[in-house]
Amino acid sequence: MNKLFAASVTAAALVGLASLPAKAAQDILIGGGSVTGVYYQVALQTCKIMNKHSGGKYNCVGRPALGSVFNINAVKRGLLDFGVAQSDRNYQATNGTADWEGKPMAELRSVMSMHPETVLLMTRKDTGIKSVMDLKGKTVNIGNPGSGQRGNAEDILRIYGIDQKKDINAEGLQQSEASRALIDQKVDAFFYTVGNPSAAIEEPANSIDADLVSINSDGIRKFISNKPYYVMATIPAGTYKGIDHDTETFAVKATVITSTAVSEEMVYDYVKTVFENLEELKGLHAAFRILKPKDMLGGLTAPLHPGAMKYYKERGLM
Ligand code: GLU
Repeated sequence: MNKLFAASVTAAALVGLASLPAKAAQDILIGGGSVTGVYYQVALQTCKIMNKHSGGKYNCVGRPALGSVFNINAVKRGLLDFGVAQSDRNYQATNGTADWEGKPMAELRSVMSMHPETVLLMTRKDTGIKSVMDLKGKTVNIGNPGSGQRGNAEDILRIYGIDQKKDINAEGLQQSEASRALIDQKVDAFFYTVGNPSAAIEEPANSIDADLVSINSDGIRKFISNKPYYVMATIPAGTYKGIDHDTETFAVKATVITSTAVSEEMVYDYVKTVFENLEELKGLHAAFRILKPKDMLGGLTAPLHPGAMKYYKERGLM
């Protein structure tokens, strides 16, 4: 090796060393939802907080994903460290019902809850759809396989006595495509379970005469009455452009979930960093503005991860 080359190798090695943190950062991967929903913002913005405030200990990446059911299953398989998921899906996975019939996920763990999500039915005013019953004969996006809204849409259709195979033309688009498809008149309506406001609802509201349809029949009230993870909720008039009436429907909580395989240290650090920088997080998306530390322990239907519990006890929240 000639001297000049040796010197430059040494210099490069030193420069490299100087720019490395003392210990290599640990990777964290968090799965969200469609890019126009709020889950992706949860994944993206909590990672932003982690990367900014963990002193180089973590390299956190929030990515778009297919939604609740996908995230729960991906966390189980170790493909994600954390995922965002609806409280009703966490309950079903933990108890082995619905998509997890006969195969409960014993490893599923709750980390914290985030914003409430309303089960929305959006249409265009020109379709004449004013109630769920009017969906008969229409093309309706019920949500992509892997999404949380698909199960909600299937429950609603069943409760209203609509056969999704015979009575409607059911589509399974991801939400970013579904909002587009409503604008382009390729679907007449879509179901989406999401926090407010979300870009997926703003897009049609801002560009066409769109409408939100209430989902509040006696059948729905009866259905939610014995399920503690559902509540009735109202989207106030004016939340979205051109929608000047209140919309009543039911709601779940968005939660962050993980598995027993993820270390106590990582979960503790994640929860602590998010809670201690909550004011900053609240400024990063409008759906986060209502977050309050105490509420973020509510609606957790899978057992709490010990790393999260450690922080909540330390903080006097439980
Ligand atoms: N609730 C939806 C789901 O579970 C996702 C909503 C969002 O991306 O904000 O798939």
